Amino acid sequence: MSVINFEFRNEVLKHNASLSYCYQCSTCSGGCPVALLTQGRYNPRKIIEEAILGLKDKLIEKQDPNIWLCSTCQTCVELCPQKVELTEIFTLIKNKCFEKDNVPEAFIVQGRTVLENGVAIPYSKAILSRREKLGLPTIKTASIDEIEKIMKETNFANHIPKEGA
Ligand code: SF4
Ligand code: SF4
Repeated sequence: MSVINFEFRNEVLKHNASLSYCYQCSTCSGGCPVALLTQGRYNPRKIIEEAILGLKDKLIEKQDPNIWLCSTCQTCVELCPQKVELTEIFTLIKNKCFEKDNVPEAFIVQGRTVLENGVAIPYSKAILSRREKLGLPTIKTASIDEIEKIMKETNFANHIPKEGA
């Protein structure tokens, strides 16, 4: 049985007060492409409902519905008649999942790739040499040192285990 966590609910409300405007009309779920693809197993309205009720265990531990399926396409935000900022609220919940190390492996791998390469999808040597042959400009990537510093300062790096660890 899920337990209401008032502290968690207040934290979400403090992060984004638009949560309290939701009247559960389901317009967000009706327009969500991921809800459509998963035949409703992913359901943004339900995530908002669980946040309103302070069901922290469902959102963070069980991840039911799985918030990581959100593609952040913003369709729900555009459609919501109450101007609920769903994706902002989801970001806080995802950060809470991250603090608990309850994050799908694919996101950890992506985080590690950014930490090590400065980009989420590094360019292969073949692509770089083809670009050079075509006379295309060199691709500028962010400074790895700066990224590493930001990730350490924000405690992000501590949650990303080294490969094989
Ligand atoms: S569209 Fe807005 S008001 Fe309607 S359920 Fe979704 S978040 Fe709530
Ligand atoms: S932002 Fe996420 S929840 Fe909203 S419509 Fe897109 S995939 Fe669905």
